[in-house]
Amino acid sequence: MAILGIDLGTTNSLIGAVDSGFPILLANAEGHRSIPSAIHFPDSGDPVVGEAALRQRALSADRVVTSVKRLMGKRLAEVERDRHPYPLTADNEGYVRVALGNKGSLSPEEISALILKELKASAEAAMGTTMDRAVITVPAYFNDAQRQATKRAGGLAGLTVERIVNEPTAAALAFGLHRSKDHARIAVYDLGGGTFDISILEIHDGVFHVLSTNGDTYLGGDDIDHAISEHLWQAYQSNKFTLAEQDATLQIKFRAEAEAAKIALSEASSQLIRMPFVEADKHFEYTLTRETLDQLARPIVERTKALCLRALHDAKLKLDQLDEVLLVGGSTRMPLVRQFVTDLFQQEANTSQHPDETVAMGAVIQGGILSGTLRNIVLLDVTPLSLGIESFGGLMNVIIPRNTTIPAKAGEMFTNAVPDQTSMLVRVLQGEREMARDNWELGQVEVPFTPGPKGSARIGVQFQIDENGILEVLTRDTKTNTDTVLEVKNAAIDVDDKRVEAMISESVDHAFDDMSERVFTEAKLKSEELLPAVDQALALIGDQLDNTDRQEIQDATEAVKQALANRNATELKQANAELDDATQQLAALLMQKALADASA
Ligand code: ADP
Ligand code: MG
Repeated sequence: MAILGIDLGTTNSLIGAVDSGFPILLANAEGHRSIPSAIHFPDSGDPVVGEAALRQRALSADRVVTSVKRLMGKRLAEVERDRHPYPLTADNEGYVRVALGNKGSLSPEEISALILKELKASAEAAMGTTMDRAVITVPAYFNDAQRQATKRAGGLAGLTVERIVNEPTAAALAFGLHRSKDHARIAVYDLGGGTFDISILEIHDGVFHVLSTNGDTYLGGDDIDHAISEHLWQAYQSNKFTLAEQDATLQIKFRAEAEAAKIALSEASSQLIRMPFVEADKHFEYTLTRETLDQLARPIVERTKALCLRALHDAKLKLDQLDEVLLVGGSTRMPLVRQFVTDLFQQEANTSQHPDETVAMGAVIQGGILSGTLRNIVLLDVTPLSLGIESFGGLMNVIIPRNTTIPAKAGEMFTNAVPDQTSMLVRVLQGEREMARDNWELGQVEVPFTPGPKGSARIGVQFQIDENGILEVLTRDTKTNTDTVLEVKNAAIDVDDKRVEAMISESVDHAFDDMSERVFTEAKLKSEELLPAVDQALALIGDQLDNTDRQEIQDATEAVKQALANRNATELKQANAELDDATQQLAALLMQKALADASA
């Protein structure tokens, strides 16, 4: 069953799916592959989405909601209210809602759900079947609240959101960069209608890592349209027209003309703007040249420079370490922007894909990979959390660290802590905490072995994760070559993002405590080895020591016991070291005796 790929954009939204093995974008009934992310809420009747909604802007600006993506997961205090021409309010917790007069108010995700519903319906019409699973893209900088809101919007539209994908990652997929075998570092420069995002990604063996992101949620093609329409207004005024102020309707007309001219000038070098009967029987005509457009747009485009440089700096990369620069977003169709990016990054930007369709295409490809309809693409996954086993003293012993590319295989050798032990309990754990008890147990297995003195057993533990995320734990008694196998299905990579984030932030919160507990446990294990060994040696050859040496050892032994009782890690480490020092002479005597015994 195919999975839909959706670019839920600030200005425009697109949908697609894999059809007969090909990732394609699906056009709506009017033949458009992209619809404006705009919703009109009429006083009576159902909301209208897309082009038809935009047309209502001149008549009822406060009932046409655009750029709702900027409001996703945000509190009212966090948004620039004057950039939204419709009224906003807040819910009890302070989160933004859009006020719709007699119709009450709606949350940003409820409004986004209307766009998603429209996209879903047109996709179903195009494919001739119902479809209810989707991959939706979000900006890389979206936080958990914003991602959750996007997921909820999908749910409200009747979609099961299989995955939320970062827009730059989707773009890189559409450019085919997951096929780059070795290391590739790329910049994704995304200038859309209302937002600018720069992301630096690293692709390694088909796995994407976002190294850094930066941007401005109020910077894009809209600002260029605004600059052009201001320019047109000045030309208009100096043309002996009588209107002294633009009313809302005229303002919207100018904006529409400005955008159309801008788009035309991506191909043409000059464009005639004609507004007949703008004032009674008067016509307004103006020729906008590419040169004037570039002058107007340059200061806006220049604002992306500092943001790009900051992203590079955060990724700890120099310009010449970037293998590719990808252009994404409708505004990167402008020749000025292409030249600007080429100059800034000192390399020709990759323009092999339609900049306004790449993100949606990537979402479709990701959907195809998830549903298995695009089999020839192998997209490797990584382990979201570390995998390991519990070792002596209740410590977490990591065998496969987090973020390891799967499939993966790793192992370690373990021994018995207690003499004459007949078996060892292997507890398989997942998590980032230092103590086993704070991590999640995935399974356990009892491994029998031949009893012997402490440290005589040789038990190999091997973790293997296949491409489906199935973890197999193999333990082997290397003396007898007896194997025990434990299979943990899907536990290794199938953890939902929220729990992974919670685990990681917990491990950061507790890093200090956890670390001191680990240090103490390790020091305690060392004391537990040292103390009986010292006792044994004293019993054997203690009489050969002089009184000062013997006293020193006794004091050091006491200090270790005291530190153990105090549960103080630093003190214990220090005491262990001093006991080690104090027993130098004893150890030397022991060695001499062993040599003498051997030659005797
Ligand atoms: P978003 O990701 O914000 O939804 P898009 O990537 O769809 O936005 O970009 C929309 C912006 O691209 C608009 O400002 C639009 O005017 C601009 N745009 C679209 N096509 C062109 C073109 N051919 N030349 C210049 N600008 C364009
Ligand atoms: Mg976009």
